[in-house]
Amino acid sequence: MATMRCVVVREHGGFDRLLQEERDVPTPRRGEVRVRVRAVGLNHLDTWVRRGVPGHTFPLPLVTSSDASGVVDALGGGVDGVREGDEVVVLPGVSCSACEACQQGFDHLCRRYDILGESCDGTAAEYVCLPAANVAPKPRGLGMEEAASVCLVFQTAWNMLVRRAELRAGETVLVHAGLSGVGSAAVQIASALGAQVIATAGGAEKCRRVAALGAHYVIDYRDADFASEVRKITGKSGVEVVFEHVGEATFGGSMKCLARGGRMVTCGATTGGDVGVSLHQVFFKSLSILGSTMGSKGDLRQVLRMFDQGRFRAVLDRALPMAEVGEAHRLLEAREALGKVVLTV
Ligand SMILES: [Zn+2]
Repeated sequence: MATMRCVVVREHGGFDRLLQEERDVPTPRRGEVRVRVRAVGLNHLDTWVRRGVPGHTFPLPLVTSSDASGVVDALGGGVDGVREGDEVVVLPGVSCSACEACQQGFDHLCRRYDILGESCDGTAAEYVCLPAANVAPKPRGLGMEEAASVCLVFQTAWNMLVRRAELRAGETVLVHAGLSGVGSAAVQIASALGAQVIATAGGAEKCRRVAALGAHYVIDYRDADFASEVRKITGKSGVEVVFEHVGEATFGGSMKCLARGGRMVTCGATTGGDVGVSLHQVFFKSLSILGSTMGSKGDLRQVLRMFDQGRFRAVLDRALPMAEVGEAHRLLEAREALGKVVLTV
């Protein structure tokens, strides 16, 4: 039987826990397609799977990574609408498709929801088999490497801003780390929705790139206290929406930035999740704190059509060979990358 290379985590720890292993090339089951992977997109989630998260159990061993692009090279039985040779991107959330949440189009709220590379084997492999519902046509304007970098972060940012915070044209949103994966997606989505975008970034070069993505104001958080800058920019009134994913390092300041009736939406806690929240602040200012994880496949397909129409850009820092996955993790953790990092397969 033919074998393939993949990246596997068997035990949590440092970069040396990213093992390159050989496995049999999988055969697609009924309803599945097999994708010959060309590029694998990395997310911060990859680094959490490798490092481990206190209080959370990952089902190790796991093939890592959630995002990928490639070419369909085999079909299981009963697959309609996908053909061999199709260039596709992988939709990173797998659901049962039968429960009430799935049938309402909230497949990311399915109790049997899996994120590739987090709760089931992921995309960092030469071949991957997936339900046919988990591939979508690659947007025409994107190369394979770019296409591998967009799904998880755009799906996440879209669900946060559109579904949870219900950001509207004319409102002002603060986006933290505007050149990070979810940050760069949020800046573009918020700007496309007609909102005024204030973003933060660390250093002049990152700030310049965030402005080029459509942010109206960019605050260099190394030089200035972002909360006082937001106060100045908004004439003391604050922002309607804060897009949070940083956690402990920014949450207190983010709360101060909210206008009365403002919405805080969060999908992550890169710097830690234990934030003190003053209930007085929450009820006196009529604030909402909204959590969000992933997003629906339907919304992601809509985002991919917007890529097809040229309305969004992939923000790619670099592509590395799959064997250099450790270096890719290092770049993410050191925040050295000016955009997404992908692996070529
Ligand atoms: Zn379901």
